[in-house]
Amino acid sequence: MSAMSGPTVADEVLAARVLVVDDEPGNVLLLTRHLQRAGFVHVEGVTDARWALPRFREWRPDIVLLDLAMPYRDGFTVLRDLRSEASGEEFLPVVVLTADTSPDSRLRALREGANDFIVKPFRAEEVLLRVRNLLATRVLHLRLQEHNEQLARLVAERTRDLDAERQFLQAVLDCLEEGIVACDADGRLRFANPAAARLGVQPATGTTLPGLVPGQLHACDGSALSPDEDPLRRAFTGYRVVGQELLVRGPGDDPRTVVANGRPIVSDPGDRLGAVVALQDVTDRRRVEEELRRRVLHDQLTGLPNRVLFLDRLGVALARAERDHRPLAVLLLNVDHFAGINDTLGHEAGDALLTALAERIRTALRPGDSGARFAGDEFAVLCEPPVGESTARRIAERIRSALSVPVEVSGRWITPELSIGIAVQRDAGRSAEEVLQDAHAAVFHAKQRGGGRYEIFESSQRQQLLERLDVEAALRHALAEGQLRLYYQPTVDLRTGEVVGAEALVRWQRPGEGLLSPLRFIPIAEQTGLIARVGQWVLRAACTQLALWQQTPLLGDGFTLSVNLSAREVGTAGLVELVDDVLAGTKADPRRLCLEITETALVHDPDRAAATLRALRERGLRIAVDDFGTGQSSLTYLQRFPIGVLKVDRSFVASMVTNRNDAEIVAAVIDLGRRLDLVTVAEGVETDQQAAALVALGCQLAQGYYFSAAVPAERLAAQLGRAGNAG
Ligand code: C2E
Ligand code: CA
Ligand code: CA
Repeated sequence: MSAMSGPTVADEVLAARVLVVDDEPGNVLLLTRHLQRAGFVHVEGVTDARWALPRFREWRPDIVLLDLAMPYRDGFTVLRDLRSEASGEEFLPVVVLTADTSPDSRLRALREGANDFIVKPFRAEEVLLRVRNLLATRVLHLRLQEHNEQLARLVAERTRDLDAERQFLQAVLDCLEEGIVACDADGRLRFANPAAARLGVQPATGTTLPGLVPGQLHACDGSALSPDEDPLRRAFTGYRVVGQELLVRGPGDDPRTVVANGRPIVSDPGDRLGAVVALQDVTDRRRVEEELRRRVLHDQLTGLPNRVLFLDRLGVALARAERDHRPLAVLLLNVDHFAGINDTLGHEAGDALLTALAERIRTALRPGDSGARFAGDEFAVLCEPPVGESTARRIAERIRSALSVPVEVSGRWITPELSIGIAVQRDAGRSAEEVLQDAHAAVFHAKQRGGGRYEIFESSQRQQLLERLDVEAALRHALAEGQLRLYYQPTVDLRTGEVVGAEALVRWQRPGEGLLSPLRFIPIAEQTGLIARVGQWVLRAACTQLALWQQTPLLGDGFTLSVNLSAREVGTAGLVELVDDVLAGTKADPRRLCLEITETALVHDPDRAAATLRALRERGLRIAVDDFGTGQSSLTYLQRFPIGVLKVDRSFVASMVTNRNDAEIVAAVIDLGRRLDLVTVAEGVETDQQAAALVALGCQLAQGYYFSAAVPAERLAAQLGRAGNAG
């Protein structure tokens, strides 16, 4: 026996407590002596039956030797007492000592709970044998009990541990963001965590093979999923499912995009235990990715594709069109006077207009065509081939009329006009960029021709575009280098021939190019915004000259100097302040200053224009409407503005002698001008017939080569017979 093991049964038997209950002290003594001699250490005797129970309670013996016949309390009664006192004990041996050998007495003792008998007078060996046997049984009983208790404790502990572990694992699975679904080896669905339930994915029951609920999972394109594509079923049949993207349609909710990963569950020796699938909800991530992708390829303001995406699509379309030998068309749209709208109404209004236009473009597109917004006020349309020239024209017409409908922006009604450039591509080998450049040149051409129209690209336009870019760059330089000049064309009283005023006309002394006409650079300056600086320079230079002239006595009292303002300048906030500043700086007489504006300057934002013009009128300036007859030409409309002078466009004057219709228009304009108390000036008078006809119609003033072209200040002064110029 190893040192580790406990006492032997025999040891424990001898260590047991033995209680002898007998009213005869001799018996007690005898038994005690026998037992002690046999090696028992704890032996006690009680000779009064009434003391048996209290002593038992106190001492808790392991065995009791009990005499049946005793005074006060007989053995049966004591036996019953002991049994009820020790009811919880596993095995408490009680041996009865009796002289009565009748079977009745024995039977009764056994019934009352005795374990054995010893008949008096007893033999020592027999007593010892029985006591030892019974005690050995008790020891074994106690050991077994102890063992069982230990086992029960162990089981309880294990169960507690397992419970804690299970709860922990459950909590882990519960708080996973991923949905986890698993089935066992029989294909029974055993597990779905809350995340899976949240996705609306719950195991289908009653299926032989596992599968997620039919009708809830869909392929990415929304089509129904066949059972073979069900990730759990695939994992169960032994496949590894990697990154399978699915759509989950829970009840009522938006569909969620999930990525499924799954595999069979296999034990170490390789037995299949089932299958598990993890479902990761990637809806939000996909949404963000989608949004980022959209942002890179779309215009923020309008949501239309941007230049990058458009070029990409154009590249694809070009390749396809080339392969199929089908023509393709690109339309580039530019909003006329957009910069002006931005200047006058502010950027928010500009944005609102662009948004409205984008919406109209969207609705005007045919299926298959795609629209885009480039920078600023530039839109593009890619027409699904085949689109030849005539179709492209029709599309351009349709888009133009769809877009040129009044739109309310910041409480004002604006009628957007568009310049459209069309590039039709039939030859192979041109890149998307090149096609766009062509369309760009065509837009520019449309702008050059006054806007509100479309042009089809021709190679000559490319040259014009290059020129424009060249002019723009050089013009910035010109302002800084002082290359601009003012020329003056006299205004003549038709009846007396007297010079009553002059119009300042700007020229550009461009190194290497000579004297450039304003027609070559003013439109470009207007488009690029440089016009503000050109205009300031013109106004200041003209007023400086006027201040000099107004001191020379031979200029008549009524002599007025006219300065042209572009439509964009009229809209600019700060025009009145600029005029004040220039007048104060130059000491020019405001009553001798006339500003020429075109009708287009008035129609964009009539209220604002009226306010500006009134402010100028209050300062004594005169306002002339230039090129009258070529624009909106509504005299009633003009009445809203404080206008003093009408300049009849030179196109009418040029043809009035030969064209009756034009002659009648000039007559009507002069007549109406007279009734509205406006001074009429005929432009572009080149012949004496024209001059005579105008006199006959009652026109007061005229300008034109017939009298004089625009000349430098000193030449005008010389024509007047007097010196005096700005130097
Ligand atoms: P506009 O205001 O109608 O100016 C009259 C134009 O007709 C001038 O051309 C003038 O030289 C030209 N002209 C004068 N008499 C005759 C004639 O008998 N026959 C013909 N065929 N033409 C004649 P210019 O100087 O080339 O100016 C062209 C346009 O440029 C002007 O038209 C005006 O709209 C613009 N412009 C000129 N100077 C300025 C300026 O300082 N500021 C702004 N914003 N625009 C200007
Ligand atoms: Ca003019
Ligand atoms: Ca004019």
